[in-house]
Amino acid sequence: MKIVLASGNIGKVKEIRDILRDFEVIPYSEIIKPFEIVENGKTFKENAIIKAKAVYDKLNGKYFVLADDSGISVPILKNAPGIYSKRYAGDNASDKDNLNKLIHELKKRGLKRTKAFYTAATALATPYGVFTTHGFMRGEVIDEARGNKGFGYDPMFIPKGFDKTLGELDESIKQKISHRFKALELMKIILTTIKF
Ligand code: IMP
Repeated sequence: MKIVLASGNIGKVKEIRDILRDFEVIPYSEIIKPFEIVENGKTFKENAIIKAKAVYDKLNGKYFVLADDSGISVPILKNAPGIYSKRYAGDNASDKDNLNKLIHELKKRGLKRTKAFYTAATALATPYGVFTTHGFMRGEVIDEARGNKGFGYDPMFIPKGFDKTLGELDESIKQKISHRFKALELMKIILTTIKF
C-alpha cells in the first residue's frame, strides 16, 4: 500500500519510513512541488489533520496521506513550546535555534533539569475519512545539548528510565520508545484495518 507523507522534515521522514517499513512511504515532495500549508490549528491533532487534508486534496484523493504534527512541552514553562516547537525561536528558525532558545529559557530560570514530554499526533486522510492517533514520550530536558543523534530538541532530552540524551543514545532506542513510534503503532492498526 502506497502512503504519501505530508512532511518534508528529513528527521521525521527517516523515522516514519523506518517505523512503517512494511508500507511504501513516499514524501509528498516526490510527487508534487512542495507548497505552503498554514498550520493554524490549536492542537497537535488539528494541525496533523490540516496537513494530511491539504496534501490529500492537492493529490485529488488518489493516495492515502499521512501527517505527523509533533513537539516538545515543558510543564514548568506552561507547556511551551508545544505546538510552536518548530517556530519557538521565530518563523524561520532552524532546529538548532529552537534548541538554543529552550536551553536559554531554562538557564534564565536557573533550571538545570526539568520534566518535559514529546507529543506526536498523526492523521491519515483516506476516501473513508480522516483517522488520528497520539503518542507521548516522557522525560526531562537539561540546560545543555549533548550528542548529535536524532533531530530537533533530542540533544537536550533525556527519556524516562535513561541517563543519556536522545542525541547520545543509539537511534534504535528512540525508535522503540518515541512519541512518533507509539502514535504510528496505533496508526498501523488503522492502516491494516482499512487496507483492501
Ligand atoms: P512540525 O513539523 O510542525 O510537527 O514541528 C515539529 C517540531 O517539533 C520539529 O521541528 C522539532 O523541533 C520538534 N520535534 C518533534 N518531534 C521531535 C523529535 O522526535 N525529536 C526532536 N524534536 C522534535
